[in-house]
Amino acid sequence: MRVPAWLLPLALACGPRIPPAPAPVPEPTSPLREPARVGPIPADAKVQQWTLRARLDAATHRIEGHATLQWRNTSTVAVRTMPLHLYMNAFRAEDTAWMAEGRGRHRGNAPHSAGGWGYVDVTAIHRVEPAPERKAVALQYRELPEPSLMELDLGDAIAPGEGVELEIDFVTQLPEVFARTGYAGEFHMVGQWYPKPGVLHRDGSWHTHAFTYHSEFYADFGDYEVELDVPANMVVGATGVLHETVRDGDRKRLQYRAQMVHDFAWTADPGFLEYTAEHEGIRIRQLVHPEHAFSVDAHLQAQIAALDSMQGRYGSYPWSTITIVHPPSGAEGAAGMEYPTLFTTSPVREIPGPLRALGLRERVSGVFTTVHEFGHQYFQGLLASDEAAAPWLDEGMNTTSNVLVVEDGADDDGWVVRVGPHALFADDFVRMAQQGIGTLQAIDQPAEAFSPVVGGYGGTVYRRTAALMLTLRNLVGDAAFDRALHEYAIAWRFRHPTGADLEQALVDGIGERVTLGAADPADPATGTVELDVRALLEAGLRGTGEVDYRVHAIVNRSAMGHAGWHRNAEGVLVGGEAPTEPGADEAVVVLHRAGEMVVPVEVEIRFADDTTVRRIWSGTRRTHTLQFDKHVRSVRLDPEGKLLLEAVRLDNHRFAPGEDFDDGLSQPLGQAAETAALLVLTGVGP
Ligand SMILES: [Zn+2]
Repeated sequence: MRVPAWLLPLALACGPRIPPAPAPVPEPTSPLREPARVGPIPADAKVQQWTLRARLDAATHRIEGHATLQWRNTSTVAVRTMPLHLYMNAFRAEDTAWMAEGRGRHRGNAPHSAGGWGYVDVTAIHRVEPAPERKAVALQYRELPEPSLMELDLGDAIAPGEGVELEIDFVTQLPEVFARTGYAGEFHMVGQWYPKPGVLHRDGSWHTHAFTYHSEFYADFGDYEVELDVPANMVVGATGVLHETVRDGDRKRLQYRAQMVHDFAWTADPGFLEYTAEHEGIRIRQLVHPEHAFSVDAHLQAQIAALDSMQGRYGSYPWSTITIVHPPSGAEGAAGMEYPTLFTTSPVREIPGPLRALGLRERVSGVFTTVHEFGHQYFQGLLASDEAAAPWLDEGMNTTSNVLVVEDGADDDGWVVRVGPHALFADDFVRMAQQGIGTLQAIDQPAEAFSPVVGGYGGTVYRRTAALMLTLRNLVGDAAFDRALHEYAIAWRFRHPTGADLEQALVDGIGERVTLGAADPADPATGTVELDVRALLEAGLRGTGEVDYRVHAIVNRSAMGHAGWHRNAEGVLVGGEAPTEPGADEAVVVLHRAGEMVVPVEVEIRFADDTTVRRIWSGTRRTHTLQFDKHVRSVRLDPEGKLLLEAVRLDNHRFAPGEDFDDGLSQPLGQAAETAALLVLTGVGP
């Protein structure tokens, strides 16, 4: 809506708070940081060399594209064909795999108008003969019935170790944005916009996937030289660094360079304000409309916290720049998506006055998106797993590390939602997401195995993975887990790790079996209780069992004195008299494993004399009975809350009959709060 001129002074007075932009940080000259920060690049990591030209018609939201792709066969087998992803074709018609599954909606967003379809149309592909001929030979190609895939006949076979140079002409029509890529008004988020080859594995098998509702992307690393030809008024952000701008009438041509990335994305919008900052030599650039500019500092702090935490844990961020794109109002569908050295975030929500007065504060909206999407620079950008085959490897491990970013960066107790003195922490969110949907499906499945109709993709792939990993970390200790994950991140930099690679790294780093403590005498686990790391990962990643423990019963009683019929010291059966003195106190505690998943659990027993003991139960049997020779007041399972896989903890703590809690109020109030939080938070989307 246009504001009438006479209202303008009022609109400006009530308008968004726009912080002044600090002095601009200059564009870095190299897309990579210094070699020590980049670290070793594996010899066969660089498979592609791209030169891309794109001319944006901002009125029709159409891109005329030309690509030169130099591709190298790093497998052991000669190849004659090459599959290419045409991701943009997902938005071409209502019967594509993507549209049919999502019914034209994504995370609550749908196109605003009936038109607005998107597609990519390949108009020619040539193979360029090596010098000195440099002859261009037209190649045959065909779109597959599922139009997000295309097969290219390379003509002659490409032997192992050899390369091919392809010239590709294409036209990309951006869709009206509702799922990551497209336009809204003058805002353009250009992702997955050019034909991208599949990944050829060493054994000569091509890895591609139809673009379905939950599946993301998988591609090889390479270097990019990209020319973007856009209207002169556009503010542009892109993967890599800008090294030249040529003004040409009412248009301009921008030259970008990126190295060791597996995708190239860009955004263009005349309405962007620009805020830059620098941290450890990394240029942080935010592109934001005035309505969201009030939050740039919150996003910058989140970005710096994520950089500090993740560089400490997983090695240096190798690139010289990171761009945070704030999609404007009306382009919410573009929010929350990662691309190399560039991501889209989501707005910080302003808390309404009355709730603020009640003491509600939050660090979830907006800034958590920045932490998450930046996290993908590691879990996907550097550790470039196949997101279609194993989405948990990036989304789940990234969510795990997001919780650790919050933990590392907190200068207080690390709360994420607070109402007055009551706080929820990042791991509470992870735990609560296990309620209900968390175990409906196993984690380790391809993206396409998760149906949007069933739901639970986010709860399973993102947050159950995090709950599993953080449970493992709590059980084996932060140091062992963190060291193992560090080794994984360093070893698989600029590579394509699989789930098996991560599991092996965790087992190697932590050990096959970890001793948790002395077994309770009544436990069938003899001697010590051990955690079988591989078995926990197997059950957690490929099982659907829930972790659920409860205190079943506490019985305090007296042992019998000498009463009724019994044998006396001479062995003569005597009886009939009443007991002369009461027997000693005894207590029996019965624990119950209500869930199918077996994880060792600690139990804390508090006695009537206020002393406590801790025991470890292997959890292998359904129930476990503990006996004591003194009066038990209360029993608490998993007293430190280590098992984040356990969603329901209401029944973990129990008082013995007659041993009521102190004030009679805090316990039921606490339980009511936990129940309410579970109900509310399990409704929160990914
Ligand atoms: Zn993500």
